[in-house]
Amino acid sequence: MKARLSGRVALVTGATGGIGDAVVRRFAAEDATVVVTDVDPGRCQEVAEELTKAGGRAVGLGLDVTDERAWESVVNEVGTSLGGISVLVNNAGIARMTDVETETLETWEEVLAVTQRGVWLGMKHAGPVIERSGGGSIVNVSSIFGTVGGFGGQFSYHAAKGAVRLMTKNAALHWATRGVRVNSVHPGFIETPLSRKLWRGTSRLDAMIGNTPMGRLGRTGEVADAVLFLASDESSFVTGSELYVDGGYTAR
Ligand code: NAP
Repeated sequence: MKARLSGRVALVTGATGGIGDAVVRRFAAEDATVVVTDVDPGRCQEVAEELTKAGGRAVGLGLDVTDERAWESVVNEVGTSLGGISVLVNNAGIARMTDVETETLETWEEVLAVTQRGVWLGMKHAGPVIERSGGGSIVNVSSIFGTVGGFGGQFSYHAAKGAVRLMTKNAALHWATRGVRVNSVHPGFIETPLSRKLWRGTSRLDAMIGNTPMGRLGRTGEVADAVLFLASDESSFVTGSELYVDGGYTAR
């Protein structure tokens, strides 16, 4: 059977974190050439080397998603050295433990810069290259918190993730007839190295599990599988849609 991303160049942001790491491993196993990007270029190169040693094809490049010049440079470099881009996964995102009252201009700007502006810049700069490369797919990682109010906290994170959900639909319509599909993935509570460290033994962890109908946290590989579906031709008639990977959280 043909691998699901053969002949595709896939750029993933925030790719050395919990979910991003699972996505690049899944993509490499499906024969994509993976561009592993994150803020720490050394770590990106390490992950790319691991993927290459395991028989995949990967390059590691530093990319701060808030920086428009950095996007231009990475997209140019990838377009030239790898012959184009077929898949973009806007995965980088950050949260701060604020609420509507404790949010400051500083935390607001910081969270929106990475989590909202970074997604727009990625689409703006990689979208045209995807179109010129013969079409492809953009997957924006939003969250259940882009759709519902959650615990009434992480105010700027909700603002940014809600914007990611709607920017996705708007961009999907913009490119609908031009071969570029755009969809969002909405993870629920996913177990990552960071969430394990933050929540182990806390009442928040119990609340997350208790509020998830399936009664457990999600795994990073389960999010990667959803991203893979939207990145591959199996979703060729899917654009502007939102795919929840949340154990039933938003079904209530
Ligand atoms: P993570 O482990 O913290 O990974 C995020 C990655 O993004 C990290 O490697 C981080 O680097 C990087 N990053 C931070 N600022 C960046 C910037 N300016 N430019 C480029 N990369 C940057 O988080 P995760 O849990 O895997 O989350 C991945 C995505 O899924 C995020 O968009 C998150 O909001 C979303 N999500 C996660 C969950 C969950 O339960 N884990 C649920 C719903 C949605 P540093 O570590 O150096 O900061």
